[in-house]
Amino acid sequence: MAKHKSTIRSDDAQAQPLSAYRAKRDFAATSEPQGLEPPPPSDVPRFVVQMHDASHLHYDLRLEIDGVLASWAVPKGPSMDPADKRLAMPTEDHPMDYLYFEGVIPAGQYGAGPVLVWDTGVYVNLRADKSKPVSMAQSRQEGKIEVFLQGLKLVGAFALIRSGRDKSGRDRWLLIKMADDNAMPGSDIVTEKPASVVTGRDIDQVRSEG
Ligand code: MN
Repeated sequence: MAKHKSTIRSDDAQAQPLSAYRAKRDFAATSEPQGLEPPPPSDVPRFVVQMHDASHLHYDLRLEIDGVLASWAVPKGPSMDPADKRLAMPTEDHPMDYLYFEGVIPAGQYGAGPVLVWDTGVYVNLRADKSKPVSMAQSRQEGKIEVFLQGLKLVGAFALIRSGRDKSGRDRWLLIKMADDNAMPGSDIVTEKPASVVTGRDIDQVRSEG
């Protein structure tokens, strides 16, 4: 079995956008996509939120930026209530075909546990629509992303804001529903709508069926 010691430097990651993703995984053991196919063309960028019951249950928010899925792990998941500020920890870029991944990452593998497609759809970069337009790549660099999500569960404007570092020096971001007509104060969408938008299954069904 291959070793997975990650020695990826940021300049390597720039040259090989998915090298950190691939270095963490043994594709002989996991059914996750390798991302070898060029990304399918899209006029409108896509996003996915995957519910992932690994060592801790969390939700992975992934936004298509320049042909890869920029990713954040959100322990409590997204909220439609603008009063909620949800911690979002950046993780490695994922390949575009991860948009469709639902299944079980085998025991012993990186991220072992069931993954369910909790929501998916398209988004609009709200900062592109300004007198000085800011691209998604630049927004990510600046630590200030504003998007309108058009998903099956999540609809409306959301901000992702870099807000400092944790004790081990990793960037912390916050995912916040921006105030708009779509906001639902007092709601708890991850509890209210737990099922996969692709198969209708809950996380325990994915765990037992694969
Ligand atoms: Mn995850």
